[in-house]
Amino acid sequence: MCEEKMNKPKMTTDKGVPSNSRVLMLLGQLEKLNGESMLADPEITRQITAKILHLIQTQEKTRKDIMSKGSSGMEVILATLENTRDLQTILNILYILNELLTVGGGRRIGVFVSKGGTGILLQLVLSASKESPPSEEVMLQLHSVLAKVGPKDRKFGVKARLNGALNVTVNLLKQNLQNHKLLLPCLLVLRVYSSNSVNAVSLGKNGVVELMLKIIGPYSKKNTSLLKVSLDTLGALLKSKTNARRAVVHVPVLLYIYQDWHRNDTCHRHVLIRKGVLGCLKNITNSKLGRKAFIDADGMRILYNTSTECLPVRTLDPLINTSSLIMRKCFPKNRLPLPTIKSVFHHQLLHVPAGGPVAQLYNQPPGGVPIYQFYTKPPWVDDVVDDSDDNEDAEAENDTENEEEEKNNHAGNDDIETDINKLRPKETHSRPFEELKIYERFFMELSEDFQVFNFDNPKRGVTATPAAPKSHRPIIVPTSQALPPKHPTAATLQGECPHPAPVPRLDLDTINITKDQDGCCDHTHTRPHPGAGLEQEQELVQGLERVSLDGAGPQGGGGGGGGGVNRHNRQPPLLAGGVAARPGGGGQEMLAEEWAEEEGGEGAVLEVPDTALLLPLHDPDLYVEMVKSTRSVPQYSEVAYPDYFGHVAPTFREHILERVYGVQRTKIFQDIERLIHPNDILDKVVYDLDIQSCPVVDDGESLKFNSQFESGNLRKAVQVRKFEYDLVLNSDINSNHYHQWFYFEVSGMRVGAPYRFNIINCEKSNSQFNYGMQVLMYSVQEAISGRPRWIRTGTDICYYKNHFSRSSIAAGGQKGKSYYTMTFSMIFNHKDDVCYFAYHYPYTYSTLKMHLQKLEALRTPQIYMRQDVLCETLGGNSCPLLTITAMPESTSNDQICLFRNRPLVFLSARVHPGETNASWVMKGTLEFLMGSSPLAQSLREAYIFKIVPMLNPDGVVNGNHRCSLSGEDLNRQWQSPSPELHPTIYHTKSLLQYLAAIQRVPLVFCDYHGHSRKKNVFMYGCSLKETVWETNISATSCELHEDLGYRTLPKILSQMAPAFSMASCSFVVERSKEATARVVVWREIGVQRSYTMESTLCGCDQGKYKGLQIGTRELEEMGAQFCVALLRLKRLTSPLELRKRAHLLDVESDLMETRCKVSSNPSTYVLEDEEHTFMEEVDYSAESGDEADNDPDTADPHDNHLSDSESNNHRDSLT
Ligand SMILES: [Zn+2]
Repeated sequence: MCEEKMNKPKMTTDKGVPSNSRVLMLLGQLEKLNGESMLADPEITRQITAKILHLIQTQEKTRKDIMSKGSSGMEVILATLENTRDLQTILNILYILNELLTVGGGRRIGVFVSKGGTGILLQLVLSASKESPPSEEVMLQLHSVLAKVGPKDRKFGVKARLNGALNVTVNLLKQNLQNHKLLLPCLLVLRVYSSNSVNAVSLGKNGVVELMLKIIGPYSKKNTSLLKVSLDTLGALLKSKTNARRAVVHVPVLLYIYQDWHRNDTCHRHVLIRKGVLGCLKNITNSKLGRKAFIDADGMRILYNTSTECLPVRTLDPLINTSSLIMRKCFPKNRLPLPTIKSVFHHQLLHVPAGGPVAQLYNQPPGGVPIYQFYTKPPWVDDVVDDSDDNEDAEAENDTENEEEEKNNHAGNDDIETDINKLRPKETHSRPFEELKIYERFFMELSEDFQVFNFDNPKRGVTATPAAPKSHRPIIVPTSQALPPKHPTAATLQGECPHPAPVPRLDLDTINITKDQDGCCDHTHTRPHPGAGLEQEQELVQGLERVSLDGAGPQGGGGGGGGGVNRHNRQPPLLAGGVAARPGGGGQEMLAEEWAEEEGGEGAVLEVPDTALLLPLHDPDLYVEMVKSTRSVPQYSEVAYPDYFGHVAPTFREHILERVYGVQRTKIFQDIERLIHPNDILDKVVYDLDIQSCPVVDDGESLKFNSQFESGNLRKAVQVRKFEYDLVLNSDINSNHYHQWFYFEVSGMRVGAPYRFNIINCEKSNSQFNYGMQVLMYSVQEAISGRPRWIRTGTDICYYKNHFSRSSIAAGGQKGKSYYTMTFSMIFNHKDDVCYFAYHYPYTYSTLKMHLQKLEALRTPQIYMRQDVLCETLGGNSCPLLTITAMPESTSNDQICLFRNRPLVFLSARVHPGETNASWVMKGTLEFLMGSSPLAQSLREAYIFKIVPMLNPDGVVNGNHRCSLSGEDLNRQWQSPSPELHPTIYHTKSLLQYLAAIQRVPLVFCDYHGHSRKKNVFMYGCSLKETVWETNISATSCELHEDLGYRTLPKILSQMAPAFSMASCSFVVERSKEATARVVVWREIGVQRSYTMESTLCGCDQGKYKGLQIGTRELEEMGAQFCVALLRLKRLTSPLELRKRAHLLDVESDLMETRCKVSSNPSTYVLEDEEHTFMEEVDYSAESGDEADNDPDTADPHDNHLSDSESNNHRDSLT
């Protein structure tokens, strides 16, 4: 009776379906029979189903009738199948289903699945298996239908497991290995079963891995579809780690099979089979054992050779890419070629907090590393190769050139602040006013007595310039461990050059390159000896005659005479003696044979280009002066030429590079060749700060490197091949990581040779170097030819995960990972050149001091400008604080009152030393503020500017990427900065706290940063509401009142600054950012408009600069536009303007629109304000995983819920 209840589908014959349709009539009869199944004669059902089958086979229309919408034909058929026990009827229906589901695609199968067809079939599999012997024909037909249905039914694998059908199919396979007709549909079904991770484990235990290997064999033209399906199945099974381990012994066989197919499949008809074999190898090598087996079986050489042979055929790319992935994974992990991962330079802190990073770094007990690491490493080594299986990043099958794979990057919402109390302003001022009162002296403009102010002399009433408080401190020739004086006679700066040459400003010093006749190098950064040889003198003259400055015209000042060339004063741009002491010599020498070839070749003399007109804030002599008071931990005594000469932004456009197909692959293959052809590798250390006497290789066969100057960062250079170098960056001082920023010098190059440079210890998992960004290069030869500038350069640039292991210690406690390689190629145009490479346009602390001094000279009687020293840094550098506003118009009380009541704007920059672009933006802001334009004057009249242009001078000086000398990221210390460890942050925050205490909270706070992963310039702000919206904390909290004013400034910027992109802005408060300047100033100080402004390191993908890499011109323009935007903001926020409600409302509604647009587009929400999470369309890193995180082995195979992952797509890009 219950059957009656269950199966009572009504045959629908109305609504347009012709009632005379024969098949519908038959189905109607069938339906009737179902209702009385107990009594029905099986013969009748048999006949009816046979008739239906006949109709279906002969009349296409019949199928449509059954499957048409509104028809319950499928239900009737399934009900019959479920009820009948008659073999022939079952077969008839299976034939019918096979016919019906073969065409019509997904819709018909969808109907079938939705009517419960899968379950009925699987039940039938089970009952059929109980017949002895089972009907082969039934099994064949059943599996044929299941093979069609399986891939379209998301729960197929789970249903099969719960039904107990898995083993039926497996046993069937085992018993019919020679029966190819039955084998194929069973394998097709098994392939679907295997894609479920729990099934895979269970099938593996049942011997299916071995079963598949029995089917898979060497090249044969027969049964290729069987082979293909078996390989897919095996590939799916091997995603389980237990299965992969079980299959390790088969690695040699699989490699043999792969080679066999590679050799014989000459027409490439069976690429899918070849790819299938690789897919299996790929999964086996996910385990350490698998990788070992692969190496032992000579897998590297086999895949390398086969791939190389595949290279000319583009259609074989999937094979090459998968091979490459396997080889990269199996490439034995190496330690970086360093004795320690600690920074080379150590700065002794007066106060080392026990729990801080420095204590952790330097007090690491030898046994403090996990046991499994400990026994693999010698006791003096603090870094280890950490290749336990746990560290496996799931490797993506993305052939890394494939953009589609990485398209869907979901910015997780985990980081958004959900604690509403943390989003509300924190009103309590933890510090007593008495304590803050000392900061009054930084706000003299608020108390200054202008009655006695002499308006004709703007210098009066202004504190003394603290720009170079120790400007005459003698510079000592380096004595640090890493830099022993090579020439002990080299004197201090004071001794060598007590006073800068008293030449007029435009008479710039020359730097010469001289050479002994015997080819022996003379480190001629020092002055030539008075008695320099006559021949040498002649050569110099010849050289000088070739030097000309283009475009700049005759030099002003007349001091040098002789066409703007000063032949006499050859003072180097170095603090005297320093260069002589410099190991490696900086490469100002020539190779002997080259010298002989070319008498007095070009570039014999370096002439400082005249840039006074183009760079009003730059002055080489002043720069050297500034350097003298800059304190670095390594006690640098050299000056890099680019900082000395200055940078004149080129007028030509520098386009974002198009990606060239296959670059990364080529680079990776070259890396793999190191293993395949170890004899080709030189492994010659040419620069090494870790060795006391940094080796100088000067055999003419190697480039010379140097980075021992301000902001320089290069730790080691290893010549790998004739024209290829591995470069290792130094970690931030008192740290063991944060490598990304680089700035170094290269010389001794050969013209026209294709050099390849690999920076091998990068840390970020992706970089704009993968998206068209180039490195920056400065050529001294170009500079003296009148083109003193950094240019974007380098070809074949890419950034990818390499085979150098990064231990958990070096990853800041995170799981061990790999380092990344940034590689670029370069052909040098000039011989005897000295070239510099940098991550981004360098901007040193000394440059800042020079700029500030020059800016101060721009002061007019209308400008109030003051420079204070906010504090000293840990390294003994002073942190400048600027105050800029307009002088009061008169000394009348009204004017003074207006003056004092101007709203404050607080700006800061360069808390992160590697983000030099922030300094260039700041330079633009400062230059605008000190400018003579009416706009600038209005701006000064509108606000009082408080500016800390460099929050982390020590980091900048010492070439750090991220941290200060405390080894910490200063932009994570704003919540409770320590006066001892984070003085610049502590005092900057105190200034803001002081302002809050005297009720003068700034209108705007903005901290300038650089962004390494995104394009354009954009802002992060803080909005309670937008944060709440992102997290859906609760509907009621949305009623919180919030002024929309925080959106005004970015909105204005997006309208006027071409590089600025509103779409990239975000106003969400993240947990990971709660200690940043932006969030703390917003929440604790109560500045509603508190921002981080991020400038791209790469370029723009919108606006006027779309497709161009960003340069200093654009960055400075951005800084100026920021000022103009503040002026517009002033108009919108001033009480006068507030009366014009209509106008304001327009603007506000405009802002509202943007907000809706922004918050509805998830891609505009970005978690991190300085860094990543934001992956763009391409990913060269081969890291993001396609494998489920949960290890199927640990999943309970008996779980009865239907939630385990089913992935029926076989990830076969070729299918
Ligand atoms: Zn930053």
